[in-house]
Amino acid sequence: MPELRVVSTPSGDVDSPAPALVGALRAYFETGATKPLSWRLSQLDALEHFLKEREQDILDALRADLGKPAAEAFGAEIGLTLSEIRLTRKKLASWMKPERVRTSLLAMPGRSYIYREPLGVTLIIAPWNYPFQLVVLPLIGAIAAGNCAVVKPSEISSNVSALIAKWLPKYLDRRAVQVVEGGVPETTALLREKWDYILYTGNGTVGRIVMEAAAKHLTPVTLELGGKSPCIVDESADLDVAAKRIVYGKFFNAGQTCVAPDYVLVHDHVHDALINRMVSMIREFYGDDPKQSPDFARIVNERHHARLTRLLGNTDVVTGGETDVSDRYIAPTILKNVKEDDAVMQEEIFGPILPVISVSSVESAIGFVNRHEKPLALYVFAGDEAAQDRVLSGTSAGGTVLNHVWLHLSVPELPFGGVGESGMGAYHGRQSFETFSHRRSVLKKPTLPDPPILFPPYSARKLHWLKKLF
Ligand code: NAD
Repeated sequence: MPELRVVSTPSGDVDSPAPALVGALRAYFETGATKPLSWRLSQLDALEHFLKEREQDILDALRADLGKPAAEAFGAEIGLTLSEIRLTRKKLASWMKPERVRTSLLAMPGRSYIYREPLGVTLIIAPWNYPFQLVVLPLIGAIAAGNCAVVKPSEISSNVSALIAKWLPKYLDRRAVQVVEGGVPETTALLREKWDYILYTGNGTVGRIVMEAAAKHLTPVTLELGGKSPCIVDESADLDVAAKRIVYGKFFNAGQTCVAPDYVLVHDHVHDALINRMVSMIREFYGDDPKQSPDFARIVNERHHARLTRLLGNTDVVTGGETDVSDRYIAPTILKNVKEDDAVMQEEIFGPILPVISVSSVESAIGFVNRHEKPLALYVFAGDEAAQDRVLSGTSAGGTVLNHVWLHLSVPELPFGGVGESGMGAYHGRQSFETFSHRRSVLKKPTLPDPPILFPPYSARKLHWLKKLF
């Protein structure tokens, strides 16, 4: 097997073993070794061993990269992944069974099935914010569907990337699963190759690069992107519940979550009351000085720290606002009097800064959301079910949670993905298996009978009977 690492030369060019890597994986795929249920289950077992035996190493790497508190790291990166492995292992045999479907009159007699077959050699490219989960969760789908895979962790979360490169090949079948570390040159080299599927998670700019590269080979893609996920708080909301859950969802992983509430649209009748409660919640969660709290993560690097610090300039800070680049710290911050054209509203914040915007009604909140790109997630806090329904029917989003934040991604029955600028395709649970499978149509026909109406020479009488079949 070729070397694991695609090596950059000092000039920035890549001395690329990518063609050899893909060639070797393809040759292995073609032996059929990855197709049997037994191989797939053995790899899922191996993944579970990896997670269990290296749990502390994973937590340490996440702490080093993002200052992730162990509870956040375990829940969002290890726990979620373990339950996905267990669910997939339990259901895989039934997912793999050919699915019998109805046969049309025209095709009768016969039996129709959908077979799920692996696509071949797949590529998984991950970002840095949940750097472990976003490699392993898609990999579960790729393996479960019987594919070979290359995973490319984010170079920005370098400790997790190194950990995955070191350990994954020791647990999994190296002939089928490979890790490539590196950044832009390495990913560019990988993207030149012909893949059978690419699942990319990250920002939309690179999403476009991935899709363009994939188009050259007609490779299908899933793009798991981001954007500004709004959170609407109606005057009918239970404000204590809303404040607690919004603060939790926003400041988890210091706001570096693709589905974090990016900003709040709150009814002006409850604007001050919500803000007061959110300020108290921040104190309750992280104490008087969140910098000292072991439960509050850090910004991934200085570049993102500088970007977030810039976004804070000239804003009306209710609480927080303190920054310390030497510690990559930005305090949990709430902003008020935010205008739609402020800098903080022009890009995904992806950090612990929460703008609050006052609106006069649910309809004006819907109008606000619809003036922007379709979000990955949209949250609605409202006691009034009619208000919830108006938001659901008046907007579009990758996913929506009513009266809470991002817990939808922990429900394996719910496909997780974006729409429009927030992405295309979805995965999690059975949907991961489907994403990495081809649905092959199979019609099984007996040799007899062979109704003559299908075949030339045609006649008025045949046409008459043919029409009855539709
Ligand atoms: P990132 O910078 O780590 O980039 C993601 C991947 O793309 C990395 O592996 C990187 O090496 C590669 N890459 C970067 N530039 C490239 C280029 N020019 N050509 C080829 N490959 C390149 O992560 P990021 O994009 O900053 O991640 C944050 C974004 O991801 C946010 O927008 C967030 O909302 C989104 N996100 C989405 C999800 C989801 O599930 N939908 C999950 C997490 C993050």
